Amino acid sequence: MGAGGATRGGIDLGGTKIQTVVVDDANDPLGDARRPTPQSGGPADVAAAMAEAMRDAAAGAGLETGALAGVGVGSPGGVDERAGTVRGAKNLPGWEGTYALGPELAEALGTRVRIGNDVDVATDAEFRLGVGTEYDSLLGVFWGTGVGGGLVLGGKPWVGQGSAGEFGHMVIERGGAHCPCGRRGCIEAYAGRAAMEAKARHEHEEKGRDTDLFKLMRKHDRPKLTSGIWERAVKQGDKLAIHLIDRAVDALGTGIASALNLLDLEAVVIGGGMGVRFGEPYADRIREAMMPHLFSDQRPPPIRVAALGDLGGAIGAALLVEG
Ligand SMILES: [Zn+2]
Repeated sequence: MGAGGATRGGIDLGGTKIQTVVVDDANDPLGDARRPTPQSGGPADVAAAMAEAMRDAAAGAGLETGALAGVGVGSPGGVDERAGTVRGAKNLPGWEGTYALGPELAEALGTRVRIGNDVDVATDAEFRLGVGTEYDSLLGVFWGTGVGGGLVLGGKPWVGQGSAGEFGHMVIERGGAHCPCGRRGCIEAYAGRAAMEAKARHEHEEKGRDTDLFKLMRKHDRPKLTSGIWERAVKQGDKLAIHLIDRAVDALGTGIASALNLLDLEAVVIGGGMGVRFGEPYADRIREAMMPHLFSDQRPPPIRVAALGDLGGAIGAALLVEG
């Protein structure tokens, strides 16, 4: 089919990378692109990188961004959908305040822009187009820089009063590890890639524990420990990396069991940079870590890896500008 009015763009704004996609009216990708998220500067620099990445994806589809029916954005932080603003996105540089990301991008791209919560749009994408289509209720767990969660209950997204699904900040250890949110003992304090990197750095630099994690990071010219670096380190038997990944798997399994004990969901979908990178074998390990804590353990729900993979967040964002 040609580039009709239903050709839309989607941008998944992450702490490590910006993933963009152009989809047709059946939500099939026509082009995609990816750029690293700026690690310094401020929201305007991030917005500029997002616009560039969106132009790259459009070019891949043989289009200018102005020809798109709209662009959806999945963003971290506090999203005001009506105003198109994003507030306090802590994994992005200099983004403590409120920034008019929607209007800024609309101007740069020459089309309308809608902003949604990154995890909500990725969960919606899996529910409508991915691995979740056969279920009425599910928990999406997005294991990346942070640990996000999205809920579908009774066939509909459940956002509570606007901030439901903060799976990463369910407490699994009272007085436990420090979480990037400022609290203690949250799942993200053990499984979020940012918290894992801080822990690895502390163990290596303060306590002298041996690890190749940071050598690999420099060798591959990465600004931080990406999912790919963690995977490499684990594959080559790096003891500290293996220990921290095991700890993350335990935290995720424990938290998922608690969520299921409360909500008795039909399925759990694991996505995010780490979730997609580590894939099925680790989904199985998370399931094993879950089982001892599951109250109704005679019919545990499946734990499945996000089918849309790395593009899921961007495709979900494009769903924001349907019709
Ligand atoms: Zn927390």
